[in-house]
Amino acid sequence: MSLSLAIHEREEKKSKPDYDNLRFGAEFTDHMFMMDYSTEDGWHEPRIIPYQPLTMDPSSLVFHYGQAVFEGLKAYHFQDKLLLFRPEKNFKRLNESNRRMNIPEIDENFMVDALKELVKLEKDWIPTKEGQSLYIRPFIIATEASLSVKPSSRYKLIIILSPVGAYYSNSEQMSPVSIFVEDDYVRSVKGGVGFTKTAGNYAASLKAQKKAEELGYDQVLWLDAIEKKYIEEVGSMNIFFKINGEVITPALNGSILEGITRNSVIELLKSWDIPVTERLISIEEVEAAHENGTLEEVFGTGTAAVISPVGTLKWKGTDLSINNGETGKLSLDLYETIAGIQTGMMEDKMGWTV
Ligand code: PMP
Repeated sequence: MSLSLAIHEREEKKSKPDYDNLRFGAEFTDHMFMMDYSTEDGWHEPRIIPYQPLTMDPSSLVFHYGQAVFEGLKAYHFQDKLLLFRPEKNFKRLNESNRRMNIPEIDENFMVDALKELVKLEKDWIPTKEGQSLYIRPFIIATEASLSVKPSSRYKLIIILSPVGAYYSNSEQMSPVSIFVEDDYVRSVKGGVGFTKTAGNYAASLKAQKKAEELGYDQVLWLDAIEKKYIEEVGSMNIFFKINGEVITPALNGSILEGITRNSVIELLKSWDIPVTERLISIEEVEAAHENGTLEEVFGTGTAAVISPVGTLKWKGTDLSINNGETGKLSLDLYETIAGIQTGMMEDKMGWTV
């Protein structure tokens, strides 16, 4: 069945928030996208409707057994251009999550087109100051009313939009984060769901994140669940190490999320002829590189901050200070290039924006 998008515009528009004081994900635009799935009709009735609360049966499967997946990306408004950064990759990853969580796949091309329509309709909600953007949150929830543990026969795919502020007020000020290397709690195991963006991964991470914050660190660095030795990723970022001129990031192994920023960094480094390797990297190797002075830079990559330089790694009672707690040159170059392409201020030689 071919899908056709219906648009029901809101009559009275909401008032816009103060774009100079935006809190992340706290304000939402006038409209949202919604589409339903049933085993009889497949995905059907794609529509853009006024942003509104959902009415759901308390027995809806998502509330009990957590069959839920989501994505996160951003739209930018620069001069007369509305830009999305590699949105096809987000819907491809949503389908990877769907397959693992037993949720019916979506038509990726249709969803990119529907998202473009939604963003066009909401273009006045995209703040235009440097670094500001419209955060896009597609998600799917299991809506069948049932307490049986089973894949739902009904779902909703919804996209909501939220204007967000600049992560860094000025790229020169990219402030390095401090990271707590967690060797007690684990995030994911091979064969599990770590490579998906499913809600439960984030629920399971909250305890360690809170512990890290109480100890005075910004985020958690997860190690592999078996040996607690190999580095996986940060709370909501992938991680890179520059050791002796070579850039290393943990290889995808089934328990790490394949970040779109991670992929973009790897492609950019290759285009710049900077050696980049995806492989197993242990926390001991990083500690040894720190000891012998070859650990040059550490940075996280993700949609929220693009590049987050790491200034401190806390491992087994010791604070390893990286690059004297300052932002490294490579982190800055990567940030300026990727953020420049995303916002339209830099020519998109990679062909990433639509
Ligand atoms: N790892 C996790 C666990 C995340 O939630 C995210 C954010 N989506 C990332 C890595 C980075 O992915 P991306 O670059 O696609 O934002």
